[in-house]
Amino acid sequence: MVDATDAGPRRQFDARAAFDADLDYVHDITRRQASLEADKLVAVARLSRRARGRTLGLDAEESAVCGFAHTEDEKRLLVAEVGTTLRVPECTVGSMVTDAETLVTSLPLTLAALQAGEITGRHAHVMVAQCSTVPVEAHGEFEAALLPAAARLTVAQFTQRARIYRERVHPETPRKRHVEALARRGVWVDPAADGMAQLSVLLPAAEAIAIDDKLDQIARSQRGPDEPRTHAQRRCDAAIALLLDPDGDLATAARSVRPQVILTVPALSLLGHTEEPAELHGYGPIDPVTARRLTADAPSVTRWLTDPITGHALSVGRESYRIPADLRLALTIEDETCRFPGCRRRAQRCELDHVHAWAEGGDTSHANLASLCSKHHHLKHESDWTVNALPGRELQWTSPIGRVHITEPANPAHPPWPESPPSPRLEPSPSSGSEPPPKRSASRPVGDSHPLPDDAPF
Ligand SMILES: [Zn+2]
Repeated sequence: MVDATDAGPRRQFDARAAFDADLDYVHDITRRQASLEADKLVAVARLSRRARGRTLGLDAEESAVCGFAHTEDEKRLLVAEVGTTLRVPECTVGSMVTDAETLVTSLPLTLAALQAGEITGRHAHVMVAQCSTVPVEAHGEFEAALLPAAARLTVAQFTQRARIYRERVHPETPRKRHVEALARRGVWVDPAADGMAQLSVLLPAAEAIAIDDKLDQIARSQRGPDEPRTHAQRRCDAAIALLLDPDGDLATAARSVRPQVILTVPALSLLGHTEEPAELHGYGPIDPVTARRLTADAPSVTRWLTDPITGHALSVGRESYRIPADLRLALTIEDETCRFPGCRRRAQRCELDHVHAWAEGGDTSHANLASLCSKHHHLKHESDWTVNALPGRELQWTSPIGRVHITEPANPAHPPWPESPPSPRLEPSPSSGSEPPPKRSASRPVGDSHPLPDDAPF
């Protein structure tokens, strides 16, 4: 007979073990799906070779060494044959064939990781897509540098990481590519179901980020207890009002809303001595000419990355709960997004959380602060999720059933920050070897000094 006093905890334990087992099962299926995806792509690559060999009148053995240099007719026949059999659109088959050929010929490590279930087919597709505009001889280096990230990031995070890396290693200058891309700008409408349509605008990234931020600010300003619309609905309504009713109340009020665009510019690039790209917060690298244009529009450069230059404290220890503006901006840029595993909410729209809670003795320092979106900030404080700060500002998250996930700041390659509190004003001293080295980067919020959101009282 079960003792009534033990039944509750035991049931709880059984339920947790069952949950854990099911989660393992789902994870295992996902890994096997990836492995099957790899097998399928290898077979598609084989089909592609055979299609070439068939046209040349080769037998199966000779086709095995045949390359992928199809004529247009050969490719069309291959795609039509596979598409009709699998009942998928020809463009999907075309993409599949490209993935298969690229993985088999020049991305063997990615293919092996897919076969081992370490990455998904979507990660592999992103790797191929980002490699496609890099010279073939650089594929090996590109793959080796990015593959570890594919194994630990979500597809969206990996896409961003791969895109930034591609920008850095691409042989053509960022400016030349931007000028060519700028020529393709445009606006178009795609019909959607139920009387809706999607309006798309292809435009320069800085303007896109600025528009996005302005819509966000307008939507936030309309929050209220009697406001029935969601944040997304208010953003959409604001976009319509700004475009179609420029003299209306909302558009008039919105004239004073100045979007915040955060840019990190290498100092030598800012001076025109190098072509090193700048980093646009929420987007990634942009060409230096555009960066210089944007920075020229603002009155001063905030050299926040080098505390000997600003003289601002990067840690106030237990002296103040409030976070200095320089430290807030630095953390926003370094984190890039919410630091919960997989979350892509932009850090600019997050709250800064004391990882080790202030109420429990945590200090206000670079090492003990992390960007969290409102949803995950509440999850941290109102559920059994726990988080610990590790060296290098990595965060170790532990789920309620004990699964551990590590997240790292998106832009950790910033200068060594003083981790010990507080050095209220560090005077520049060329002879001192103990201070952080001067940084070659300068950063500024372009366009406005709109304050970042206040941290929640945790
Ligand atoms: Zn989040």
